[in-house]
Amino acid sequence: MRFNRRARLDSDQVRTRKGGAAAVGGGAGIIGVLVVLALQFLGGGGGDIGGALGALEGTQVGGRSTSEAIEGCETGADAERSQECRIVAVVNSIQDTWSTQLEGYQPTVTNFFTGSVTTGGCGSATSAVGPFYCPADQQIYVDLGFFDELESRFGASGGDFAEAYVLAHEYGHHVQNLIGVRAERSSGPESDAVRQELQADCFAGVWANHATTTPDPDTGEILILELTETDIRDALSAAAAVGDDRIQEAATGDVDPHTWTHGSAEQRQGWFLTGYETGDPNRCDTFAADEL
Ligand SMILES: [Zn+2]
Repeated sequence: MRFNRRARLDSDQVRTRKGGAAAVGGGAGIIGVLVVLALQFLGGGGGDIGGALGALEGTQVGGRSTSEAIEGCETGADAERSQECRIVAVVNSIQDTWSTQLEGYQPTVTNFFTGSVTTGGCGSATSAVGPFYCPADQQIYVDLGFFDELESRFGASGGDFAEAYVLAHEYGHHVQNLIGVRAERSSGPESDAVRQELQADCFAGVWANHATTTPDPDTGEILILELTETDIRDALSAAAAVGDDRIQEAATGDVDPHTWTHGSAEQRQGWFLTGYETGDPNRCDTFAADEL
């Protein structure tokens, strides 16, 4: 991924969230359930609802947190030297694309956090959940440590574009929220939950298709000048690594499709590629697809 070094970044789209409720032991109970239902996570948090529930035990709804804009990320040159600025650039590019592709698109913020975070509408979460989108406040939450885990714990090939895929997937959930896609809680390889996740993967691919051709509507500049085959391979590797079957296999050695909520490695790669190859969000109607 090569950035346009002179292009201006909009660092207001990424913020750092500090503070939040102190974690308390036990008692997640019904609050934990509500929180999990409200979150739409990537699939890294243990790979299923049960895993996410476990991760949320000991967190508490409420508390206060403050958010601060990322400073010092001004140009594409900054994106080439720092991970935080690279994420700003990728988020800018994703939102430039959706502003072009989706009439009425409303930009939203990505929040970095460490350890745990109090969201603006989905209660508290810890980094064990993995990156997630909160439909109630329409914001994205990412612990930067997850990107290392993607490689070290989930076995993805890593790379800058693996991060970009994760962010684009979460913005895919934002697009779904804006257009009114909301799946019932369910599981299984053909379930609505899986269809919703695969659509987010497809939307991530749609962005990748347009990333090097979409200018910033304000400045007219294209932020990302080049994606390589390695970039796409890194995205596919990350998509596979957070597939339900891969996560289950690594965790227990058993694969149980009935409990899938995000889709298999093959399904996730397939739908990312559908989006990437066509660049057409209308081809991402996973809910109408006979085969996933
Ligand atoms: Zn997701």
